[in-house]
Amino acid sequence: MLSEDVFSECDPLISLLPIGKCETEILYSLKEKLKLFGMPVKLCQQVPIPKGAYNAKRQQYRAGKFLEIVEKNQSYRVLGITEKDLYVKKLNFVFGLAQKGGKSAVITTARLTFGIDFLKEKDIIIYRKRCLKEAVHELGHTMGLSHCSGNDCVMFFSNSLLDTDAKSKRFCHRCRIIMEKTAYCTQI
Ligand SMILES: [Zn+2]
Ligand SMILES: [Zn+2]
Repeated sequence: MLSEDVFSECDPLISLLPIGKCETEILYSLKEKLKLFGMPVKLCQQVPIPKGAYNAKRQQYRAGKFLEIVEKNQSYRVLGITEKDLYVKKLNFVFGLAQKGGKSAVITTARLTFGIDFLKEKDIIIYRKRCLKEAVHELGHTMGLSHCSGNDCVMFFSNSLLDTDAKSKRFCHRCRIIMEKTAYCTQI
């Protein structure tokens, strides 16, 4: 899948990079919603799952290997997205991973589908919201933000989907002020 949009690589833009097979609908939903950051969003062509990422013992994928793939893209900000279950050392799983103040981030939808009945419109909306919150959260890290203690703020750390569902997709006032110093954030 190739984006028809043409941007200069120097312009501030978010590249959305599918790693392995990804559901088209969620890619287009994120492409639209992530414009909230106030810059264009480009959907890139899918790239393969990185070699050496799979850990057969854990039946999970190393998140760091995915970030290495994302890093190769030269855009202002790059958000990798995968359906594979990711982990980092010392954690059972992660919803995503980002370079704080860097350009690269990755999210996985693997655990965001839990409890979702894709035949129910109400559930699909919840699923899309979860994806957006995780995407905004990881991109927030690339904008220099740390975790926030406000449980309504998108930068609140999600220990489980309960936290993800409870928090909003928005940055709190404090996080927004920090981010506005570094980025092009607008009205999320
Ligand atoms: Zn985080
Ligand atoms: Zn906050």
